Amino acid sequence: APSDFGLIGLAVMGQNLVLNVESRGFAVSVYNRTPAATEAFVAAHPGKRITGHASLTAFVQSLSRPRRVMLMVKAGAAVDAVIEQLIPLLEQDDIIIDGGNSLYTDTERRDAWLTPLGLRFIGAGVSGGEEGARKGPSIMPGGPASTWAAMRPVFEAIAAQVDGQPCVVHIGPGGAGHYVKMIHNGIEYGDMQLICEAYALLQAAGLSNARMAAVFDQWNQGELQSYLIQITARALEQVDAETGRHVVDLILDKAGQKGTGQWTQLNAAENAVVISTINAAVEARVLSSQKDQRVAASGQLQGPAGRLEVDAERLITQVHDALFASKIVSYAQGLDLMRTMGAKKGWGLDLGAIAGIWRGGCIIRAQFLRHITAAYQADPGLQNLMLAPYFQTVLNRSQAAWRQVVAQAVSAGIPVPAFGASLAYFDSLRSARLPANLLQAQRDFFGAHTYERIDKPAGQWFHTAWPEVIG
Ligand code: NDP
Repeated sequence: APSDFGLIGLAVMGQNLVLNVESRGFAVSVYNRTPAATEAFVAAHPGKRITGHASLTAFVQSLSRPRRVMLMVKAGAAVDAVIEQLIPLLEQDDIIIDGGNSLYTDTERRDAWLTPLGLRFIGAGVSGGEEGARKGPSIMPGGPASTWAAMRPVFEAIAAQVDGQPCVVHIGPGGAGHYVKMIHNGIEYGDMQLICEAYALLQAAGLSNARMAAVFDQWNQGELQSYLIQITARALEQVDAETGRHVVDLILDKAGQKGTGQWTQLNAAENAVVISTINAAVEARVLSSQKDQRVAASGQLQGPAGRLEVDAERLITQVHDALFASKIVSYAQGLDLMRTMGAKKGWGLDLGAIAGIWRGGCIIRAQFLRHITAAYQADPGLQNLMLAPYFQTVLNRSQAAWRQVVAQAVSAGIPVPAFGASLAYFDSLRSARLPANLLQAQRDFFGAHTYERIDKPAGQWFHTAWPEVIG
Protein backbone atom coordinates (compact mmCIF):
# COMPACT_ATOMS: atom_id res chain seq x y z
CA ALA A 1 0.00 0.00 0.00
CA PRO A 2 1.23 3.54 -0.67
CA SER A 3 2.64 5.53 2.24
CA ASP A 4 0.72 8.46 3.70
CA PHE A 5 3.74 10.63 4.18
CA GLY A 6 7.29 10.96 2.90
CA LEU A 7 10.34 12.40 4.61
CA ILE A 8 13.71 13.28 3.14
CA GLY A 9 16.74 13.87 5.38
CA LEU A 10 17.44 11.32 8.07
CA ALA A 11 19.65 13.31 10.43
CA VAL A 12 18.57 13.81 14.04
CA MET A 13 15.44 15.89 13.35
CA GLY A 14 14.24 13.82 10.40
CA GLN A 15 14.60 10.49 12.18
CA ASN A 16 12.68 11.67 15.20
CA LEU A 17 9.91 13.23 13.12
CA VAL A 18 9.48 10.02 11.16
CA LEU A 19 9.12 8.02 14.38
CA ASN A 20 6.60 10.57 15.63
CA VAL A 21 4.54 10.50 12.41
CA GLU A 22 4.60 6.70 12.30
CA SER A 23 3.56 6.44 15.94
CA ARG A 24 0.41 8.44 15.10
CA GLY A 25 -0.79 5.82 12.66
CA PHE A 26 0.68 6.99 9.36
CA ALA A 27 2.76 4.87 7.02
CA VAL A 28 5.97 6.74 6.18
CA SER A 29 8.42 6.48 3.30
CA VAL A 30 11.93 7.76 3.90
CA TYR A 31 14.85 8.82 1.74
CA ASN A 32 18.29 10.17 2.52
CA ARG A 33 20.98 11.39 0.12
CA THR A 34 23.42 8.94 1.63
CA PRO A 35 21.59 5.58 1.37
CA ALA A 36 23.52 4.00 4.25
CA ALA A 37 21.66 6.33 6.63
CA THR A 38 18.32 5.14 5.24
CA GLU A 39 19.28 1.49 5.59
CA ALA A 40 20.56 1.95 9.13
CA PHE A 41 17.47 3.85 10.19
CA VAL A 42 15.00 1.34 8.78
CA ALA A 43 17.00 -1.57 10.21
CA ALA A 44 17.00 0.06 13.63
CA HIS A 45 13.19 0.25 13.68
CA PRO A 46 11.78 -3.11 12.67
CA GLY A 47 8.04 -3.72 12.80
CA LYS A 48 7.19 -0.13 12.06
CA ARG A 49 5.33 1.16 9.02
CA ILE A 50 8.47 2.80 7.68
CA THR A 51 9.83 1.99 4.24
CA GLY A 52 13.25 3.09 3.10
CA HIS A 53 14.08 3.93 -0.51
CA ALA A 54 17.47 4.12 -2.12
CA SER A 55 16.21 6.16 -5.08
CA LEU A 56 14.18 9.36 -5.00
CA THR A 57 12.01 8.03 -7.84
CA ALA A 58 11.02 4.94 -5.88
CA PHE A 59 10.45 7.12 -2.83
CA VAL A 60 8.08 9.46 -4.69
CA GLN A 61 6.24 6.56 -6.34
CA SER A 62 5.62 4.99 -2.94
CA LEU A 63 3.45 7.90 -1.77
CA SER A 64 -0.33 8.33 -1.93
CA ARG A 65 -1.60 11.43 -3.74
CA PRO A 66 -1.54 14.30 -3.33
CA ARG A 67 1.92 13.45 -2.14
CA ARG A 68 3.15 14.97 1.09
CA VAL A 69 6.93 15.17 1.08
CA MET A 70 8.70 16.72 4.01
CA LEU A 71 12.30 17.89 3.80
CA MET A 72 14.43 17.79 6.96
CA VAL A 73 17.73 18.56 5.31
CA LYS A 74 20.36 21.15 6.13
CA ALA A 75 18.95 24.66 5.65
CA GLY A 76 20.24 26.57 2.60
CA ALA A 77 21.49 25.13 -0.68
CA ALA A 78 20.57 21.54 0.28
CA VAL A 79 16.87 22.45 0.29
CA ASP A 80 17.12 23.85 -3.25
CA ALA A 81 19.10 20.84 -4.40
CA VAL A 82 16.48 18.40 -3.13
CA ILE A 83 13.59 20.44 -4.54
CA GLU A 84 15.27 20.49 -7.96
CA GLN A 85 15.50 16.70 -7.91
CA LEU A 86 11.88 16.38 -6.78
CA ILE A 87 10.28 18.67 -9.38
CA PRO A 88 10.43 16.25 -12.35
CA LEU A 89 9.14 13.42 -10.15
CA LEU A 90 6.14 15.15 -8.56
CA GLU A 91 2.72 15.86 -10.04
CA GLN A 92 0.07 18.58 -9.89
CA ASP A 93 -1.00 19.56 -6.35
CA ASP A 94 1.66 17.50 -4.61
CA ILE A 95 2.97 19.19 -1.47
CA ILE A 96 6.58 19.85 -0.48
CA ILE A 97 7.10 20.80 3.15
CA ASP A 98 10.39 22.33 4.22
CA GLY A 99 10.61 21.67 7.95
CA GLY A 100 14.13 23.02 8.41
CA ASN A 101 15.24 26.36 9.80
CA SER A 102 15.09 28.14 6.45
CA LEU A 103 15.28 31.89 6.15
CA TYR A 104 11.76 33.12 5.35
CA THR A 105 12.93 34.98 2.25
CA ASP A 106 14.26 31.67 0.88
CA THR A 107 10.83 30.20 1.55
CA GLU A 108 9.18 33.07 -0.35
CA ARG A 109 11.52 32.46 -3.27
CA ARG A 110 10.77 28.71 -3.29
CA ASP A 111 7.04 29.41 -3.07
CA ALA A 112 7.28 31.67 -6.13
CA TRP A 113 9.35 29.01 -7.89
CA LEU A 114 7.06 26.04 -7.20
CA THR A 115 3.59 27.58 -7.42
CA PRO A 116 3.72 28.21 -11.22
CA LEU A 117 4.79 24.56 -11.61
CA GLY A 118 1.53 23.43 -10.01
CA LEU A 119 3.23 22.25 -6.84
CA ARG A 120 2.27 23.42 -3.37
CA PHE A 121 4.96 24.52 -0.95
CA ILE A 122 4.87 24.78 2.82
CA GLY A 123 7.63 26.41 4.80
CA ALA A 124 7.09 25.04 8.28
CA GLY A 125 8.99 26.11 11.36
CA VAL A 126 9.50 23.12 13.62
CA SER A 127 10.65 23.88 17.15
CA GLY A 128 11.60 21.72 20.07
CA GLY A 129 14.82 20.10 18.95
CA GLU A 130 15.26 16.36 18.93
CA GLU A 131 12.87 15.60 21.77
CA GLY A 132 10.17 17.85 20.33
CA ALA A 133 10.47 16.17 16.95
CA ARG A 134 10.02 12.76 18.57
CA LYS A 135 7.32 13.51 21.14
CA GLY A 136 5.55 16.49 19.68
CA PRO A 137 6.99 19.77 18.40
CA SER A 138 5.41 23.16 18.02
CA ILE A 139 4.80 23.52 14.28
CA MET A 140 4.51 26.83 12.43
CA PRO A 141 3.43 26.05 8.86
CA GLY A 142 3.12 28.73 6.20
CA GLY A 143 1.93 28.32 2.63
CA PRO A 144 -1.25 28.36 0.60
CA ALA A 145 -4.45 27.89 2.61
CA SER A 146 -5.32 24.82 0.50
CA THR A 147 -2.40 22.96 2.00
CA TRP A 148 -3.77 23.31 5.51
CA ALA A 149 -6.66 20.93 4.87
CA ALA A 150 -4.27 18.38 3.36
CA MET A 151 -1.70 18.67 6.12
CA ARG A 152 -3.85 19.30 9.16
CA PRO A 153 -4.45 15.63 10.07
CA VAL A 154 -0.72 14.93 10.10
CA PHE A 155 0.39 18.17 11.74
CA GLU A 156 -2.26 18.02 14.46
CA ALA A 157 -1.47 14.38 15.18
CA ILE A 158 2.28 14.90 15.57
CA ALA A 159 2.31 18.31 17.30
CA ALA A 160 2.64 18.78 21.05
CA GLN A 161 -0.71 18.92 22.82
CA VAL A 162 -1.52 21.43 25.57
CA ASP A 163 -4.91 21.35 27.29
CA GLY A 164 -6.13 19.09 24.50
CA GLN A 165 -5.08 21.59 21.81
CA PRO A 166 -2.42 20.75 19.22
CA CYS A 167 0.48 23.21 19.05
CA VAL A 168 0.02 23.98 15.37
CA VAL A 169 -2.01 26.48 13.35
CA HIS A 170 -1.78 27.61 9.76
CA ILE A 171 0.35 30.73 10.21
CA GLY A 172 -0.20 32.42 6.86
CA PRO A 173 0.85 32.36 3.20
CA GLY A 174 4.33 32.22 1.71
CA GLY A 175 7.16 32.67 4.19
CA ALA A 176 4.91 33.43 7.18
CA GLY A 177 5.62 30.13 8.95
CA HIS A 178 9.38 30.34 8.74
CA TYR A 179 9.19 34.02 9.63
CA VAL A 180 7.30 33.25 12.84
CA LYS A 181 9.79 30.49 13.65
CA MET A 182 12.57 33.06 13.23
CA ILE A 183 10.88 35.40 15.71
CA HIS A 184 10.38 32.45 18.06
CA ASN A 185 14.13 31.91 17.96
CA GLY A 186 14.82 35.60 18.59
CA ILE A 187 12.54 35.47 21.62
CA GLU A 188 14.33 32.30 22.71
CA TYR A 189 17.62 34.22 22.63
CA GLY A 190 16.04 36.89 24.87
CA ASP A 191 14.65 34.38 27.36
CA MET A 192 17.97 32.59 27.63
CA GLN A 193 20.02 35.74 28.15
CA LEU A 194 17.60 37.06 30.79
CA ILE A 195 17.94 33.81 32.71
CA CYS A 196 21.72 34.04 32.43
CA GLU A 197 21.65 37.57 33.84
CA ALA A 198 19.50 36.38 36.75
CA TYR A 199 22.07 33.63 37.35
CA ALA A 200 24.93 36.15 37.25
CA LEU A 201 23.23 38.31 39.89
CA LEU A 202 22.42 35.43 42.22
CA GLN A 203 25.96 34.13 41.82
CA ALA A 204 27.35 37.60 42.58
CA ALA A 205 25.44 37.49 45.88
CA GLY A 206 27.23 34.26 46.77
CA LEU A 207 24.49 31.69 46.08
CA SER A 208 25.77 28.19 45.44
CA ASN A 209 24.73 26.23 42.36
CA ALA A 210 22.55 23.98 44.50
CA ARG A 211 20.84 26.98 46.06
CA MET A 212 20.29 28.56 42.64
CA ALA A 213 18.87 25.29 41.30
CA ALA A 214 16.38 25.38 44.16
CA VAL A 215 15.50 29.00 43.35
CA PHE A 216 14.86 28.16 39.67
CA ASP A 217 12.80 25.13 40.72
CA GLN A 218 10.74 27.38 42.94
CA TRP A 219 10.32 29.94 40.15
CA ASN A 220 9.20 27.13 37.91
CA GLN A 221 6.20 26.63 40.18
CA GLY A 222 4.94 30.18 39.58
CA GLU A 223 4.54 32.86 36.93
CA LEU A 224 7.95 32.12 35.45
CA GLN A 225 7.09 28.46 34.83
CA SER A 226 8.80 27.51 31.59
CA TYR A 227 10.93 24.86 30.00
CA LEU A 228 14.00 27.10 30.03
CA ILE A 229 13.68 27.81 33.78
CA GLN A 230 13.19 24.09 34.37
CA ILE A 231 16.28 23.03 32.40
CA THR A 232 18.30 25.82 34.04
CA ALA A 233 17.64 24.25 37.45
CA ARG A 234 18.69 20.83 36.19
CA ALA A 235 21.77 22.23 34.43
CA LEU A 236 22.91 24.01 37.60
CA GLU A 237 22.91 20.87 39.70
CA GLN A 238 24.56 18.56 37.17
CA VAL A 239 27.85 17.16 38.48
CA ASP A 240 30.75 16.18 36.24
CA ALA A 241 31.58 12.48 36.64
CA GLU A 242 35.27 12.99 36.02
CA THR A 243 36.01 15.86 38.40
CA GLY A 244 33.06 15.83 40.78
CA ARG A 245 32.56 19.52 40.12
CA HIS A 246 29.45 21.18 38.76
CA VAL A 247 29.41 20.93 34.97
CA VAL A 248 28.24 24.53 34.64
CA ASP A 249 31.41 25.73 36.41
CA LEU A 250 33.55 23.81 33.93
CA ILE A 251 31.88 25.07 30.76
CA LEU A 252 33.79 27.72 28.82
CA ASP A 253 31.84 31.01 28.75
CA LYS A 254 31.79 31.41 24.97
CA ALA A 255 28.29 31.21 23.51
CA GLY A 256 27.64 29.84 20.05
CA GLN A 257 24.89 30.81 17.65
CA LYS A 258 23.57 29.61 14.32
CA GLY A 259 22.26 32.92 12.99
CA THR A 260 18.50 33.00 13.54
CA GLY A 261 18.94 35.71 16.20
CA GLN A 262 20.88 37.82 13.75
CA TRP A 263 18.19 37.29 11.09
CA THR A 264 15.68 38.64 13.59
CA GLN A 265 17.89 41.67 14.26
CA LEU A 266 18.22 42.42 10.55
CA ASN A 267 14.48 42.14 10.01
CA ALA A 268 13.78 44.46 12.94
CA ALA A 269 16.23 47.00 11.53
CA GLU A 270 14.56 46.79 8.11
CA ASN A 271 11.18 47.43 9.68
CA ALA A 272 12.34 50.07 12.18
CA VAL A 273 10.96 48.06 15.09
CA VAL A 274 12.72 48.16 18.45
CA ILE A 275 13.73 44.73 19.75
CA SER A 276 16.35 45.98 22.17
CA THR A 277 16.09 42.99 24.52
CA ILE A 278 16.66 40.50 21.70
CA ASN A 279 19.44 42.69 20.32
CA ALA A 280 21.07 42.72 23.75
CA ALA A 281 20.80 38.94 23.89
CA VAL A 282 22.40 38.42 20.48
CA GLU A 283 25.13 40.93 21.27
CA ALA A 284 25.78 39.31 24.64
CA ARG A 285 26.53 36.07 22.80
CA VAL A 286 28.85 37.94 20.44
CA LEU A 287 30.77 39.56 23.30
CA SER A 288 30.91 36.27 25.18
CA SER A 289 32.55 34.66 22.18
CA GLN A 290 35.32 37.29 22.24
CA LYS A 291 36.87 35.65 25.26
CA ASP A 292 40.48 36.59 24.50
CA GLN A 293 39.62 40.26 24.20
CA ARG A 294 37.64 40.12 27.45
CA VAL A 295 40.43 38.41 29.33
CA ALA A 296 42.93 41.00 28.09
CA ALA A 297 40.61 43.92 28.91
CA SER A 298 39.82 42.51 32.35
CA GLY A 299 43.44 43.20 33.31
CA GLN A 300 43.34 46.79 32.05
CA LEU A 301 39.91 48.35 32.48
CA GLN A 302 39.08 48.95 36.11
CA GLY A 303 35.75 48.80 37.90
CA PRO A 304 33.86 47.26 40.78
CA ALA A 305 34.56 43.63 41.57
CA GLY A 306 31.12 42.38 40.55
CA ARG A 307 29.94 41.27 43.98
CA LEU A 308 26.60 42.01 45.58
CA GLU A 309 26.67 42.49 49.35
CA VAL A 310 22.93 42.18 49.81
CA ASP A 311 20.33 40.09 51.59
CA ALA A 312 20.03 36.95 49.44
CA GLU A 313 16.32 36.32 50.08
CA ARG A 314 15.47 39.87 49.15
CA LEU A 315 17.61 39.69 46.01
CA ILE A 316 15.97 36.45 44.91
CA THR A 317 12.53 38.09 45.03
CA GLN A 318 13.79 41.19 43.24
CA VAL A 319 15.52 39.22 40.50
CA HIS A 320 12.37 37.17 40.01
CA ASP A 321 10.40 40.34 39.39
CA ALA A 322 13.08 41.84 37.16
CA LEU A 323 13.21 38.66 35.12
CA PHE A 324 9.48 38.49 34.64
CA ALA A 325 9.14 42.17 33.74
CA SER A 326 12.06 41.98 31.29
CA LYS A 327 10.60 38.85 29.72
CA ILE A 328 7.32 40.65 29.15
CA VAL A 329 9.19 43.48 27.42
CA SER A 330 11.07 41.01 25.24
CA TYR A 331 7.83 39.36 24.11
CA ALA A 332 6.19 42.75 23.59
CA GLN A 333 9.04 43.61 21.21
CA GLY A 334 8.94 40.32 19.33
CA LEU A 335 5.18 40.57 18.95
CA ASP A 336 5.50 44.17 17.78
CA LEU A 337 7.88 43.00 15.06
CA MET A 338 5.49 40.22 13.99
CA ARG A 339 2.56 42.65 14.01
CA THR A 340 4.49 45.11 11.85
CA MET A 341 5.74 42.53 9.32
CA GLY A 342 2.40 40.72 9.28
CA ALA A 343 0.62 43.94 8.36
CA LYS A 344 3.23 44.88 5.75
CA LYS A 345 3.01 41.46 4.11
CA GLY A 346 -0.74 41.05 4.52
CA TRP A 347 -0.17 37.72 6.26
CA GLY A 348 -3.12 38.07 8.62
CA LEU A 349 -1.09 36.78 11.56
CA ASP A 350 -3.15 35.80 14.61
CA LEU A 351 -0.69 36.73 17.35
CA GLY A 352 -2.83 35.19 20.10
CA ALA A 353 -2.98 31.87 18.27
CA ILE A 354 0.76 31.99 17.61
CA ALA A 355 1.50 32.50 21.31
CA GLY A 356 -0.91 29.64 21.94
CA ILE A 357 1.02 27.13 19.84
CA TRP A 358 4.22 28.08 21.65
CA ARG A 359 2.80 26.70 24.91
CA GLY A 360 4.02 23.20 24.10
CA GLY A 361 6.73 21.43 22.16
CA CYS A 362 9.06 24.36 21.67
CA ILE A 363 11.98 25.80 23.60
CA ILE A 364 10.09 28.88 24.81
CA ARG A 365 7.11 26.90 26.08
CA ALA A 366 5.75 28.59 29.17
CA GLN A 367 2.63 29.08 31.23
CA PHE A 368 2.55 32.82 30.76
CA LEU A 369 1.93 32.50 27.01
CA ARG A 370 -1.73 31.88 27.77
CA HIS A 371 -1.94 35.45 29.05
CA ILE A 372 -0.65 36.64 25.67
CA THR A 373 -3.30 34.61 23.88
CA ALA A 374 -5.95 36.04 26.20
CA ALA A 375 -4.68 39.58 25.65
CA TYR A 376 -5.03 39.32 21.86
CA GLN A 377 -8.38 37.57 22.14
CA ALA A 378 -9.64 40.49 24.23
CA ASP A 379 -8.13 43.07 21.86
CA PRO A 380 -6.96 41.76 18.46
CA GLY A 381 -5.69 45.25 17.57
CA LEU A 382 -3.49 45.49 20.68
CA GLN A 383 -0.62 47.86 19.85
CA ASN A 384 1.80 46.72 22.52
CA LEU A 385 1.56 43.71 24.80
CA MET A 386 2.66 45.80 27.78
CA LEU A 387 -0.62 47.75 27.51
CA ALA A 388 -2.83 44.69 28.05
CA PRO A 389 -4.35 44.85 31.55
CA TYR A 390 -2.67 41.71 32.91
CA PHE A 391 0.76 42.79 31.74
CA GLN A 392 0.28 46.36 32.96
CA THR A 393 -0.47 44.97 36.39
CA VAL A 394 2.64 42.78 36.42
CA LEU A 395 4.88 45.59 35.19
CA ASN A 396 3.49 48.02 37.74
CA ARG A 397 4.04 45.71 40.65
CA SER A 398 7.44 44.47 39.43
CA GLN A 399 9.06 47.71 38.55
CA ALA A 400 10.42 48.82 41.92
CA ALA A 401 12.34 45.54 42.20
CA TRP A 402 13.30 45.70 38.53
CA ARG A 403 14.84 49.15 38.95
CA GLN A 404 16.69 48.09 42.08
CA VAL A 405 18.11 45.04 40.38
CA VAL A 406 19.40 47.06 37.43
CA ALA A 407 20.71 49.81 39.72
CA GLN A 408 22.52 47.32 41.96
CA ALA A 409 24.00 45.55 38.97
CA VAL A 410 25.24 48.81 37.51
CA SER A 411 26.77 49.85 40.85
CA ALA A 412 28.46 46.50 41.28
CA GLY A 413 29.75 46.40 37.71
CA ILE A 414 27.74 43.32 36.72
CA PRO A 415 26.68 43.48 33.08
CA VAL A 416 22.91 43.07 32.67
CA PRO A 417 22.42 44.17 29.05
CA ALA A 418 19.04 42.50 28.55
CA PHE A 419 17.56 43.56 31.90
CA GLY A 420 18.81 47.08 31.23
CA ALA A 421 17.57 47.23 27.63
CA SER A 422 14.16 46.00 28.73
CA LEU A 423 13.86 48.62 31.44
CA ALA A 424 15.01 51.39 29.09
CA TYR A 425 12.39 50.31 26.55
CA PHE A 426 9.71 50.32 29.24
CA ASP A 427 10.74 53.79 30.39
CA SER A 428 10.98 55.09 26.83
CA LEU A 429 7.54 53.80 25.93
CA ARG A 430 5.96 55.43 28.96
CA SER A 431 7.70 58.76 28.28
CA ALA A 432 5.27 61.11 26.64
CA ARG A 433 8.22 63.39 25.94
CA LEU A 434 11.71 62.18 25.01
CA PRO A 435 14.83 64.29 24.38
CA ALA A 436 14.29 63.91 20.63
CA ASN A 437 13.34 67.60 20.51
CA LEU A 438 17.04 68.35 20.95
CA LEU A 439 17.87 65.74 18.36
CA GLN A 440 15.62 67.50 15.87
CA ALA A 441 17.32 70.79 16.75
CA GLN A 442 20.70 69.23 15.99
CA ARG A 443 19.46 67.81 12.71
CA ASP A 444 18.00 71.14 11.67
CA PHE A 445 21.18 72.90 12.81
CA PHE A 446 23.64 70.97 10.66
CA GLY A 447 21.40 69.68 7.90
CA ALA A 448 18.36 71.98 7.68
CA HIS A 449 16.21 68.88 8.15
CA THR A 450 13.38 71.02 9.68
CA TYR A 451 11.16 70.12 12.65
CA GLU A 452 7.56 70.17 13.80
CA ARG A 453 6.53 72.30 16.81
CA ILE A 454 4.41 71.49 19.83
CA ASP A 455 2.64 74.84 19.52
CA LYS A 456 1.77 74.46 15.82
CA PRO A 457 -0.37 71.92 13.91
CA ALA A 458 1.31 68.62 13.03
CA GLY A 459 2.61 68.39 9.48
CA GLN A 460 3.94 71.96 9.43
CA TRP A 461 7.69 72.01 9.19
CA PHE A 462 9.94 74.76 10.49
CA HIS A 463 13.55 75.75 10.10
CA THR A 464 15.53 78.00 12.42
CA ALA A 465 18.30 80.30 11.27
CA TRP A 466 20.83 78.79 13.70
CA PRO A 467 24.03 80.77 14.40
CA GLU A 468 27.09 80.00 12.36
CA VAL A 469 29.67 77.89 14.20
CA ILE A 470 33.32 78.27 13.32
CA GLY A 471 35.96 75.64 14.08
P1 NDP B 1 21.34 18.83 9.53
O1 NDP B 1 20.96 20.26 9.48
O2 NDP B 1 22.63 18.48 10.14
O3 NDP B 1 21.26 18.25 8.03
C1 NDP B 1 21.68 16.94 7.74
C2 NDP B 1 20.78 16.30 6.73
O4 NDP B 1 20.72 17.07 5.53
C3 NDP B 1 21.26 14.91 6.36
O5 NDP B 1 20.15 14.08 6.17
C4 NDP B 1 21.99 15.17 5.06
O6 NDP B 1 22.09 14.05 4.23
C5 NDP B 1 21.10 16.21 4.44
N1 NDP B 1 21.74 16.97 3.39
C6 NDP B 1 22.74 17.88 3.54
N2 NDP B 1 23.08 18.39 2.36
C7 NDP B 1 22.30 17.78 1.43
C8 NDP B 1 22.18 17.89 0.03
N3 NDP B 1 22.93 18.75 -0.67
N4 NDP B 1 21.28 17.11 -0.59
C9 NDP B 1 20.51 16.26 0.10
N5 NDP B 1 20.57 16.11 1.43
C10 NDP B 1 21.45 16.88 2.09
O7 NDP B 1 20.18 17.97 10.24
P2 NDP B 1 19.27 18.27 11.52
O8 NDP B 1 18.43 17.08 11.68
O9 NDP B 1 20.06 18.76 12.67
O10 NDP B 1 18.36 19.51 11.07
C11 NDP B 1 17.51 19.45 9.94
C12 NDP B 1 16.85 20.80 9.79
O11 NDP B 1 16.07 21.06 10.96
C13 NDP B 1 17.82 21.98 9.67
O12 NDP B 1 17.26 22.98 8.85
C14 NDP B 1 17.91 22.49 11.08
O13 NDP B 1 18.29 23.85 11.14
C15 NDP B 1 16.48 22.29 11.54
N6 NDP B 1 16.30 22.18 12.97
C16 NDP B 1 17.17 21.49 13.75
C17 NDP B 1 16.99 21.39 15.11
C18 NDP B 1 17.94 20.60 15.93
O14 NDP B 1 17.77 20.58 17.17
N7 NDP B 1 18.91 19.91 15.36
C19 NDP B 1 15.87 22.04 15.78
C20 NDP B 1 14.96 22.68 14.90
C21 NDP B 1 15.20 22.76 13.55
P3 NDP B 1 23.42 13.13 4.26
O15 NDP B 1 23.15 12.10 5.32
O16 NDP B 1 23.47 12.55 2.90
O17 NDP B 1 24.58 14.02 4.57
